[in-house]
Amino acid sequence: NPDVISPGSLTSSESISLFEYTSKITAQQTLDSGMSLVEKATEIAGELEYSPEQNDGRDMTMIPTYVTSVPNGTEKGVYLAVDLGGTNFRVCSVVLNGDTTFDLTQSKVAIPKALMVSDSHSLFSFLAKQVADFVETHHSDHFSEDPEHHLRLGFTFSFPVDQKAINKGYLIRWTKGFDIPDAIGKDVCALLQNEIDALGLPVKVAALVNDTVGTLMARSYTSPGKTGTLLGAIFGTGTNGAYVEKLDRITKMTSASAKDVGEYDTSTGEMVVNTEWGSFDNAVNVLPDSPYDRLLDQNSVNPGIQMFEKRVSGMFLGEILRNAILSMKQDVGLFATSTIAEDSVLNTPWSIDTSLLSYIEADSTEDFSVTKEQLQKDLGISASTISDDEARAAKILVHAIGKRSARLSAVPIAAIVIATGKLSPPAQAPIDDLGLKDLSLVGQGIEILRRAIGGRSPADLSADAPLPDIQDEEPIDIGVDGSVVEFYPGFEEYVREALRDVPEFGEKGEKRIRMGVAKDGSGVGAALIALVAKMQYSQ
Ligand code: BGC
Ligand code: MG
Repeated sequence: NPDVISPGSLTSSESISLFEYTSKITAQQTLDSGMSLVEKATEIAGELEYSPEQNDGRDMTMIPTYVTSVPNGTEKGVYLAVDLGGTNFRVCSVVLNGDTTFDLTQSKVAIPKALMVSDSHSLFSFLAKQVADFVETHHSDHFSEDPEHHLRLGFTFSFPVDQKAINKGYLIRWTKGFDIPDAIGKDVCALLQNEIDALGLPVKVAALVNDTVGTLMARSYTSPGKTGTLLGAIFGTGTNGAYVEKLDRITKMTSASAKDVGEYDTSTGEMVVNTEWGSFDNAVNVLPDSPYDRLLDQNSVNPGIQMFEKRVSGMFLGEILRNAILSMKQDVGLFATSTIAEDSVLNTPWSIDTSLLSYIEADSTEDFSVTKEQLQKDLGISASTISDDEARAAKILVHAIGKRSARLSAVPIAAIVIATGKLSPPAQAPIDDLGLKDLSLVGQGIEILRRAIGGRSPADLSADAPLPDIQDEEPIDIGVDGSVVEFYPGFEEYVREALRDVPEFGEKGEKRIRMGVAKDGSGVGAALIALVAKMQYSQ
């Protein structure tokens, strides 16, 4: 059995077996396990194909969002936003100043754990109560009978929903430890609106927003570029991404079978798609797998679901570490000379916070003092009883888990950039899409070449127009948010390292990726979408 190694002491020569042991979950395994990063990226790119069946949580759900344009920084208005993510519930009001800046007032509460596994009335009435407190404190001037003067609210709801309109979406499944069965299949906007109405609040739920879509919008508003932001990605409690796709590729919106598709604006020819990449490869055919991953999955509220997320996001990294430490404790006597209380975090499922991993990863001391202190603080293992080898072992585990998470995170990023053709010049698009049908073969060749060099639209292509800069210098903009990407030391650099290993990217492609944290993304993004809802859908 390759999962078992012989027990032994942790000193001197045995430390080599620690390395062997932990290598089972090292990042390198991502590459050594028979499938390369690019093969994985290709696999995910394959999953970017749309099929109406892909709605059962077994594959990437690819949800059309009804958001058909991204902002450019000039948007203005005052909106409410609420954010039900994984760990906290936030209520905020956002003033969009129209000059890429905004002002934000917010209140934040931790979601009581009991509410995460309760019933929908308990959860949504709790949320409505928080909205009531906020509106009373900050917007008492808004209490008006006239629905025209009600505050418009963007609802950031970071779970997979089958979205049918900008303000309507039916919950497909819970993730991140939530389990409220009676909410499945219900319109979550209506659930919130009903509880808001029951409290007599002057608030209209105008838009339903996934946090990734909010991040994409917020990034686009605050850092507008020539080409707009391509992708919004969350690496936090959970993980997911939303990107701008060509409308005609979204067969869910256009096929005859898409019966109850709501009203949407087609003028831009684009729509943001929420990929739900957390559920990528739920069968674990290509993802790295270890005994610690399998144990985590068995003990989760949703075994077999969100398998990519379970290897990447903050809610799970601590639990992988816990499983690995406990297993080493049993097999090779890790922390054997320390006293560990029954009720230590180490003995409590799902209780190791990602911040423990971040601190240990950041430890550059020679005597592992930061690691030891943090193990004492978080796990209650007295620092003076931890040997250097034990601390080093913990650090190896942490590094392997964190680096694997980052390298895996590069996979859907690479897949989306490749699948949307952002790395290649437009000449690689099919002739029919390029509007060249009416030219002679030679004329087509010349036009394609010119566009390959210049990346210009047909309208710019008069013979004497100067050639603009080479297209492949243009940055590909990505907005990110979440505790892991924000706080895990070196996370972005590991993502970039992995991107460079993808042959399509290489060093040159990797350099084109511009990545930035969209601060308060879900609040600002939800406000921006509430604004879109008002302008395009009169919601
Ligand atoms: C949810 C996504 C969400 C992501 C990040 C996942 O568990 O399914 O909808 O975007 O977490 O919050
Ligand atoms: Mg969040």
